[in-house]
Amino acid sequence: MVAEIEADVAVLGGGSAGMAAYRAATKAGARTVLIEHRAFGTTCARVGCMPSKLLIAAAEAAHARQEGAGFGLPAPAPIRWGGLDDVLARVRRERDRFVGFVLRDVEAYPPADRLLGTVHIVDDHAIDIRAPDTTRTRVRAARIVIATGSSPVMPPELAPVRGLCLTTDELFELPGLPASAAIVGTGVVALEMGQALHRLGVRVRLFGRGGRLGVLTDPELLPIALATLRAGLPLEHDPLARFSLHAGQVHVDYLDAHGSEAAEDFDCALVAAGRTPNLHLAGAENASWHTALLDVGRTLDRSTLRLAGTHVFVAGDATGGASIQHEAVDDGRIAGRNAATFPSVQAGLRRAPLSIAFTSPQMASVGGGWQHASRRESAVDAGQASFENQGRSRVMLRNQGALRVYADAKGQFLGAEMLGPDAEHLGQLMAWALQARMTIDQMLSMPYYHPTVSEALRTALQDLKARRQETPA
Ligand SMILES: Cc1cc2nc3c(=O)[nH]c(=O)nc-3n(C[C@H](O)[C@H](O)[C@H](O)COP(=O)(O)OP(=O)(O)OC[C@H]3O[C@@H](n4cnc5c(N)ncnc54)[C@H](O)[C@@H]3O)c2cc1C
Repeated sequence: MVAEIEADVAVLGGGSAGMAAYRAATKAGARTVLIEHRAFGTTCARVGCMPSKLLIAAAEAAHARQEGAGFGLPAPAPIRWGGLDDVLARVRRERDRFVGFVLRDVEAYPPADRLLGTVHIVDDHAIDIRAPDTTRTRVRAARIVIATGSSPVMPPELAPVRGLCLTTDELFELPGLPASAAIVGTGVVALEMGQALHRLGVRVRLFGRGGRLGVLTDPELLPIALATLRAGLPLEHDPLARFSLHAGQVHVDYLDAHGSEAAEDFDCALVAAGRTPNLHLAGAENASWHTALLDVGRTLDRSTLRLAGTHVFVAGDATGGASIQHEAVDDGRIAGRNAATFPSVQAGLRRAPLSIAFTSPQMASVGGGWQHASRRESAVDAGQASFENQGRSRVMLRNQGALRVYADAKGQFLGAEMLGPDAEHLGQLMAWALQARMTIDQMLSMPYYHPTVSEALRTALQDLKARRQETPA
């Protein structure tokens, strides 16, 4: 016996984007169902943003104990490093609280609107769901939103050590921390987790391939960032590093920063080498929109999130865009509303791009950073402020890194990149300025409280202005 549901909109994937799509489509008056194949609760709360920030907070607390000497404080009593089971227990306890809030939201949706079970695409409009108790439901939907998220990439060179590899999907479930871990990747998640584990006493080394470093792209900032991070974190960029199994350990042969051959063994490898959109849906070959979905990079209209020529919309990490929670929610809102009003669709509200890495020092990229600003056809000016002698940063003994700001020939603020203290707040401030379309002069006319890290922004803007005056257009 198969229950049948007729819906205007079916949303596949009950994460951040899917929940936003469900709410937006429902608000627009569409009969909408939200379909999740594993567990509601979102990647962000279960295995993403929240548990990772909880682990980082514990690592910062551990690191703060060591920093006292710099302020003339007596050395702390040594702590017994080891499994640190209590650290992971607190991560899970707090994480479960956050997941609980999300589940409460989902449970407030009418039961008939939310389905949990394995998903099979039957044709262009029909989707079968087999619930854990084996009951089956067929949803016939006029429109579909695909918000199925993304999964960690497993690079092929890790095949020999596959059994010793874990990702952030498993990290927070470990009963205790490993003694050592090779961290594969130097993107945001690799840097955040690698540094946190290192500060919690795990012997780590990061292995990157393409010279990537978190959210940074500015060639002036990258060497500063690399030197700053390397001072406290073993980090290698060797595209030819080789992974093999040796005496039950992950053995890595690599060239170190000086080009010398080196090797090290680790208990496991934490793989954070990027994520790939979940677009291989069971049975999708039965639908005419299947090929367009697999080519989402070219077929998706980024402003309306409609797949060209279809009644299907894609949102969140499934689009293959930046893996950022608030953008996934915005995507969901746009896709859900357009799916409800289809065939009338509208471009949705987009915010100033902002990416943050919760490393130490933190990183921020505003407006797509240098990568975006430098692609403009017209001239771009840059200004810089170092945190080395920045008042507030020195007071706190966090005087590392630099801030780079960009403007066009008319003095219009274009964005920034930063490695330094409190980048999460300064990045946010600059993103607001960018979205408000402020000029450099308007930003300089704003208050800068003394002594704050934000004063570095004024220094960088003044530097940019001075350079513009030196080289008039
Ligand atoms: C370790 C880590 C740290 C992060 N930290 C941050 C951060 O600090 N700040 C930030 O902004 N972002 C962060 N992110 C990124 C952020 O978590 C994602 O961008 C966001 O969760 C994407 O939401 P989504 O709805 O697209 O995907 P998800 O929340 O993953 O939702 C997709 C859902 O679809 C379900 N699904 C998959 N396939 C199917 C199918 N065939 N049928 C039905 N359901 C399906 C999945 O089970 C899942 O529930 C982090 C990510 C990770 C992994």
